[in-house]
Amino acid sequence: MKIVIIGAGPAGVTAAETFRAHDRQTELVMLSAEPFPPYSPPAMVEHFLTGSNVHLWRGDDWPERLDVDYRSGTTVTAIDSEAHNLSTLDGETLAYDKLVIATGSRLYAPLEGRDLPGVYNFKSLSAAEALVQQVKSGAATTALIVGAGFIGVEIALLLSDLGVEVTQVEMLDQVMPAMLDPETAAFAQEEMNARGVDLRLSTEAAVILGEDRATGVQLKSGDVLLVDVIIAATGVRPNIDFLEGSGIDYNWGISVDEFLRTNVQDVFAAGDVVESPDRLTGETFVHAIFPNATAQGNIVGLNLAGFEITYEGADRMNSLKHLGLPIIAVGLKEGDEVLRSKHNGNLRTLYLKENRLVGFQLVGEVRAAGVLRALLLREQDVRPIKDHLLAANFGQGTITWEAISATP
Ligand SMILES: Cc1cc2nc3c(=O)[nH]c(=O)nc-3n(C[C@H](O)[C@H](O)[C@H](O)COP(=O)(O)OP(=O)(O)OC[C@H]3O[C@@H](n4cnc5c(N)ncnc54)[C@H](O)[C@@H]3O)c2cc1C
Repeated sequence: MKIVIIGAGPAGVTAAETFRAHDRQTELVMLSAEPFPPYSPPAMVEHFLTGSNVHLWRGDDWPERLDVDYRSGTTVTAIDSEAHNLSTLDGETLAYDKLVIATGSRLYAPLEGRDLPGVYNFKSLSAAEALVQQVKSGAATTALIVGAGFIGVEIALLLSDLGVEVTQVEMLDQVMPAMLDPETAAFAQEEMNARGVDLRLSTEAAVILGEDRATGVQLKSGDVLLVDVIIAATGVRPNIDFLEGSGIDYNWGISVDEFLRTNVQDVFAAGDVVESPDRLTGETFVHAIFPNATAQGNIVGLNLAGFEITYEGADRMNSLKHLGLPIIAVGLKEGDEVLRSKHNGNLRTLYLKENRLVGFQLVGEVRAAGVLRALLLREQDVRPIKDHLLAANFGQGTITWEAISATP
């Protein structure tokens, strides 16, 4: 039997590692469009800041250790699911018995002028290297980042730390609108301003200017900002172009069942390329975050090994690593009851629905995150401990499961 995994990001790598923990015999081939060993995108900022590869690579000997036939620089262009084979950009045809699609996502930039030279992104290591090379060579001392979602904020902090004069425009009135509530975002914004980022909220980019090369951006207001480099951080979309004609169902991302199988026999999918049900709301959409990619890769690896494991649903959670000020956001940012405490530069906001925790946001003191997440996942009725939830030392051995589970 031959298993082919398309994609060497966290989803594909986890699928391979989980499978190999149970099966050392089956032939495993992994294809990646990029010219690198498998890498972890969340580690790219640290890599460019410190030169460290510790969290970026699994080690050059990863394919050998895992007995994976790893083919970098190999882009899949089509799948023939009836014939059980796929085609690559350099004209090869590769047969498979089982296939895993873990092709992740790429930049989505609905902006006029986005294809001009001088417009960069940070969605892949190749793209990030091209940008950082401009900075390190001295060619870029000013930058404009369009979009202040999670990735946009990470890039702003990185470039600012590398000595670039950074302006960041965001069309909504707060940073990371999908992840943070306005109160938590305000802390992040203050910190970003203190780090030298010229953050402009409620400011929409209309068009990227330039003829042979991007020179700046015209805003909806008519104002023009001229810079050395422009970085589009306007969102992501799944890499699914090669699925046309394959018979594999997709909408915005690939549709899968609870075993993470596509509608086509012997084809699984995992990670940013997949639409999955939200653990809390059941709503199906692409949850493009690292823990979901690895959790799904794990399920696919187990199912390839014959275990028949179902996926419980995707989480919403994220943390900001490079802000200096820890911020963690988990679950929903709305509820029928909101508990909030603010003291000594710390902010804790808890969102409850029918006395159950459905989300929380922590700034500064984040040690309660583990216990809060456990309460959320268990759908625990928190009435017996409601008075303790905002205590500064909550979750640090101050409360027992007996107390939590007491009948309200
Ligand atoms: C800068 C940055 C910081 C991030 N930080 C965080 C964070 O702190 N926390 C968090 O939860 N998430 C974070 N994320 C998001 C996280 O990295 C993604 O959710 C995760 O990488 C998704 O993994 P994946 O394996 O599904 O896809 P990807 O990591 O996108 O990997 C896809 C792989 O598929 C390959 N590929 C694509 N198309 C083809 C093709 N046609 N043929 C062959 N190969 C192909 C690519 O080369 C790549 O190897 C961050 C992302 C970025 C860019």
